[in-house]
Amino acid sequence: MPRKAHFPGNPWYSIRTIREQVAMKLKKLFSYLIPYTCILCGIKSNCLQDLCKGCYRDLPFYPVQDSGALLTYDGPAPDLILSIKFQHNLSAARVLGELLAEKCQQFYKKNPHPLAIIPIPLHRDRLKERGFNQALEIARPVAARLGIPLQTKKIHRIKPTLAQATLPQSKRQSNVSKAFSVQTTYQHVAVIDDVYTTGNTMEEFCRTLTMAGVKKIDTWVVARPVFSTVKD
Ligand SMILES: [Zn+2]
Repeated sequence: MPRKAHFPGNPWYSIRTIREQVAMKLKKLFSYLIPYTCILCGIKSNCLQDLCKGCYRDLPFYPVQDSGALLTYDGPAPDLILSIKFQHNLSAARVLGELLAEKCQQFYKKNPHPLAIIPIPLHRDRLKERGFNQALEIARPVAARLGIPLQTKKIHRIKPTLAQATLPQSKRQSNVSKAFSVQTTYQHVAVIDDVYTTGNTMEEFCRTLTMAGVKKIDTWVVARPVFSTVKD
């Protein structure tokens, strides 16, 4: 299993560590030549990621450590997430994915690792229109950091759902009902999405995974409202 490569004692551990260190040094050198630009304030920064220290400090980190959410859905979070979807801000997807990866890595030091990462899929029409799935772009750094596979094959959104935010509460459940089709052999997976607003999409996707035989599902999102118990 590739994820075992992260543990000392595995012969691939040292090769992987050396490769990561070389990549980090090259990245650092590159950042001196062409400084990164902070995705929030736009200042040039020598940080390894496109986020300056001040903006990182001001991010609205989710107050509950093991919550499955990185940020609360306020401050810069809504604009950042919308910029991924509507302005193709893939730098934001990568930075948020890296930050989420850090949180996941902390969590899985104390909890059983999932065997695969599954981003919530887009319908093929939406994918064609947007050109990428934001949940997949956020999931990539998480899978890389944890050293576990990303599963996107045989994971489909078969119903062209409307944006939950545009619908009244009474229509939200039926909008996502039977929206997904999945096949997986993994018994424990981690599902990733950009935002948890209604809860209906995540619940329906997890229900579909359970029907497909998945026994344990962890859910991770970049942002969700604080202590939201309302399925809005
Ligand atoms: Zn900044």
